[in-house]
Amino acid sequence: VTTDNIIQPVRDLGAYTLKATVAPIKLNQNESPVDVDEAFKREVLDRVAARAWNRYPDFYPRDVLDGLGALHGLSGDSVLLGNGSNELIQALFAATVEAGTRVALPSPTFTLYAMMVAANGGEVVHVPLADDLTYDVDAWRALADRGDTHLLVCSPNNPTGSVMDAAQIADLAGRTQRLVIVDEAYAQFGPHDLAPLVAAHPNVAVLRTFSKAVGLAAVRLGYLLCAPDLAREIGKVKLPYNVGVFGLEVARVCLEAPHRFDGIADTLRAERARLVERLTGLAFDDVYPGAANFVLVRTPRAAEVFDALYADGILVRNVGHYPMLANCLRISVGTPAENDAVVARLTALLGAAPTAEAP
Ligand code: PMP
Repeated sequence: VTTDNIIQPVRDLGAYTLKATVAPIKLNQNESPVDVDEAFKREVLDRVAARAWNRYPDFYPRDVLDGLGALHGLSGDSVLLGNGSNELIQALFAATVEAGTRVALPSPTFTLYAMMVAANGGEVVHVPLADDLTYDVDAWRALADRGDTHLLVCSPNNPTGSVMDAAQIADLAGRTQRLVIVDEAYAQFGPHDLAPLVAAHPNVAVLRTFSKAVGLAAVRLGYLLCAPDLAREIGKVKLPYNVGVFGLEVARVCLEAPHRFDGIADTLRAERARLVERLTGLAFDDVYPGAANFVLVRTPRAAEVFDALYADGILVRNVGHYPMLANCLRISVGTPAENDAVVARLTALLGAAPTAEAP
């Protein structure tokens, strides 16, 4: 059969799938709930129209790389641009993982990492979160001390919102010569900025994306920050011209006013607090606020609740199949009206939390 031609590590992979992506209230992919303004779109489109479409985009878009680096106190040589940060996860593992390479991942976490490690023949070392879904820092320290395992820390972690702080990551990076990869896709929603670690630690690589707090998931734009010598090597397996004129012009317009989209994260953090407070008042077994733009809730009725919400046009993510997350739903923070709608529906379905007995 023709599929015999596909290498075994790939045949062994499960496909990355996502069901039911349309609903009037879409709270399943941790996107920004509001579209960017018309003026921004017009500005980008005008600039794209002014470019020659018959020519390849810049091979090395120096201004964009320098501009992104400068946001984090780094030179452009420390930056790789990706068609989404996902593409850079792929490039990173293509450059650093071969048969037998050990890569430690939090468990549970974003499923793409394990797929990319496996596709390169590597061995995933699952590091379970603690029972309260915080990072088990001692376990990570022990793996760093082994000195033979790359560490990938997602902070804030998807789908739990768990964080490590800069001192904890710096400690890990100082204990090993292997890579310490930090996926900060949700950085702007959390308490830490881990990008400054790159300047101090030659083995730390930080991933950032325009898809979440910048509100530009459709554009597919992300970047990797790391020491220039690492960036040069990883750049060899990143395809040339991976970001086209559209992505590059979006980056340029963003860089002219780097704080233009800060309000998205500010609003979503405030809405997360409001959502958590109201969900905590309902009859869930657990509500995990986390430090990202989503909240995790647990109820034995998760499957039924998912279906009832979807029937009412509200799409959340059932993450019950993840390790430690049996009966959990992940709810992305939406607009105030969307959050009100999901709370109203959940209140009708589950009712208020039983009030504690007075002592
Ligand atoms: N990292 C994490 C932890 C994510 O949750 C996601 C999006 N689901 C990504 C990376 C992907 O980001 P991008 O759109 O930049 O490829």
